[in-house]
Amino acid sequence: MRTIERVHDLRDLCDRARAAGGRVGFVPTMGYFHAGHRSLMRAARADTDLVVVSLFVNPLQFAPNEDLAAYPRDRAGDAAAAEAEGVDILFAPTTDEVYPRPPVTTVRVEGLTAGLCGRSRPTHFDGVTTVVAKLFSMVGPSRAYFGRKDAQQLAVVRRMAADLDLPVEVVGCPLVREPDGLAMSSRNAYLEPDDRRAATVLSRALEAAAAEIRAGARDADHVHRVLTGLIATEPRVQIDYAEVVAADDLTPVTEITGDVLVAVAAHVGRARLIDNMTVTVHDDQVVVDLGVVAPDPSAPESPQPEVV
Ligand code: AMP
Repeated sequence: MRTIERVHDLRDLCDRARAAGGRVGFVPTMGYFHAGHRSLMRAARADTDLVVVSLFVNPLQFAPNEDLAAYPRDRAGDAAAAEAEGVDILFAPTTDEVYPRPPVTTVRVEGLTAGLCGRSRPTHFDGVTTVVAKLFSMVGPSRAYFGRKDAQQLAVVRRMAADLDLPVEVVGCPLVREPDGLAMSSRNAYLEPDDRRAATVLSRALEAAAAEIRAGARDADHVHRVLTGLIATEPRVQIDYAEVVAADDLTPVTEITGDVLVAVAAHVGRARLIDNMTVTVHDDQVVVDLGVVAPDPSAPESPQPEVV
């Protein structure tokens, strides 16, 4: 694996791989790798020739009152993890390398960014789409891998790629959980032990909502009450939102039918955590996707990505 800091060097290696007929796979990240990140690297490794992982804590997607300075970083640990996953290039640029001048050109996806996380983080997705568009332009991937942990981000990036005719296939990969159900996140590092225990209420609430839907509940308000009622039993957990929305356009639904995203965000101690599940209901058939439990690193199998 090569660790690269300069855009020029990155372009050069990606150009050469493409010229030799290789497919470039790309995994954008902010580092502090866990099994969720590693599952994306494995998916990229399995179906592309040159695997590029970016490690960049993007200031543009943090509001002034957010955790940019405190965001956990472990460059050496990340390099070791990426190398172990067979990554070819770890692109770890400085902020000046990515933004030599404050950008006056940004990418904004309307509509999809208005609700859910966009409501409490109104500038966040503009920062995400701007940096992802820039990274796509630097790397030139044929496939880019994103986790369904960040379901809204995945929907927004997919729409950006479609609207701008970017020649990249956006691949959604399963949400990876800790054995006790907590969605893996770099921000889990902020949790004190009592908060860490309390935080499992988010996945337990999603499980409870899933059980209601499996038992026949179709009223979104009812499912919402089950979700919020359970989360409210944990005084350490403050709900930011809990919503039942259409999986494609992220607008609220009243009835659970077709493809639905059930998404939550909450403050737990210093951390703001998100979690979600997708539910597909057709006639009497219900399929709930809560993701996967982190694979044992010694196990050969990895979660299979969904190709979109
Ligand atoms: P981040 O470093 O948090 O910006 O995340 C980089 C990528 O990893 C994004 O596509 C995330 O959706 C993905 N990711 C983060 N946590 C998980 C998780 N628990 N399961 C699957 N993907 C994840």
